Amino acid sequence: MANVHIVHLETPLREEFRQELARRIYFLAEEIVEFTIDGSDGLLTGVRLSTRDTVSTDQLHRRLHTVIANDIRHQRVGPVKVYWRSSHEAPDGMPDFARLCDEGLVVPMGEGQMALAEPLLTLLDNADRQLVALVRRETGAVQYRYPTLMRTETLRQCGYMRSFPQHLMFVTRLHGDSDTYAAFSDRLAFGDDLLAMCGNTDYCLPPTMCYHTFQQLSGRRLGEPMAITARGKSFRHESRYHEGLSRLWDFTIREMVFLGSRDYARQTRERIMRSVCELVESWGLGGRCEVASDPFFVGAATAARISSQRLLELKFELRLPIGGGRDIACASFNFHDQHFGDAFAITGAEGESIHSACVGVGLERLTLAIVSQHGTDPRAWPETLRPSDI
Ligand code: AMP
Ligand code: ZN
Repeated sequence: MANVHIVHLETPLREEFRQELARRIYFLAEEIVEFTIDGSDGLLTGVRLSTRDTVSTDQLHRRLHTVIANDIRHQRVGPVKVYWRSSHEAPDGMPDFARLCDEGLVVPMGEGQMALAEPLLTLLDNADRQLVALVRRETGAVQYRYPTLMRTETLRQCGYMRSFPQHLMFVTRLHGDSDTYAAFSDRLAFGDDLLAMCGNTDYCLPPTMCYHTFQQLSGRRLGEPMAITARGKSFRHESRYHEGLSRLWDFTIREMVFLGSRDYARQTRERIMRSVCELVESWGLGGRCEVASDPFFVGAATAARISSQRLLELKFELRLPIGGGRDIACASFNFHDQHFGDAFAITGAEGESIHSACVGVGLERLTLAIVSQHGTDPRAWPETLRPSDI
């Protein structure tokens, strides 16, 4: 049975923090099934939470106030800097997710997990192929296909544990001894019993592709600037925030990584950002590209990190409308400064610190934005994205 908890905010929060608050609430407790944020006169005054049993209002109160104090209240918010705006208007009456399912284009498989069918697969591949051509033309990027698993140690070196513990997904396995294997095959344990038979946490599912690149180049001295691109499945535990094709636990990123001097990394990010925006314009899509920040969670000085990320313009996002007055981030353009170069001891020819930048395109989201704006009939898609046989 659901319990309802009302948590008042002792000090109300400004309305502009609604989104920052909303994106963290399900991570307070797995038991939360629904929430609404109360507010009036430009102030947020409380949160109503429905939960499945056990969790107490006091616990929720404490966690909510801690997250607000650490992650949200001291963020500096100002006007959002827009880098680019498409000359196209997104149309009215875009197909919603239910229609994509009715037409058999998308099949829900589990929490945050979707199967895609034709012609969406061809659309996704055609869009991706043009992104690869773009980055190879502009930077001579070399392409790799990385393994699915990522060492947990790599994520630690990247600082992922401190920044996004809520998204981590471990890959475990049975304790490696014949007693455990025999006990398991006798009893076929599940749940807590199964967990007692597992222990290994050496590997995770990768949350993004560029971390593979840093691990690949770990300890290397780069004679000249380097550009690498890879496409791969990326995994983030999005809790109950999973939604249709727009927020998945299991999705695909086309990643582009640039390593070299500070100027090389910054300028290449800028050049690719401009070219991706031009490509989106050539596909006739409405949208914009603007300064953004990451959903850092519960780490030290989180609010300050978010503010400086925005202030220093370390992250831009390409946001495309998908109907119902909503838009989603389909790509991000990130400048990491020396963070990953130092973390993985990657240096320049003279042993100097290397700077890096990356571009990550969410291919399911991009595909969703294209069918939302151009419809599900391939004959209405831009010629370069259509299947070749129509
Ligand atoms: P990020 O590294 O967080 O900037 O992610 C790169 C891109 O991956 C984003 O711009 C999205 O297009 C896509 N992406 C991130 N999280 C998800 C998700 N949960 N579901 C689908 N796509 C995602
Ligand atoms: Zn990246």
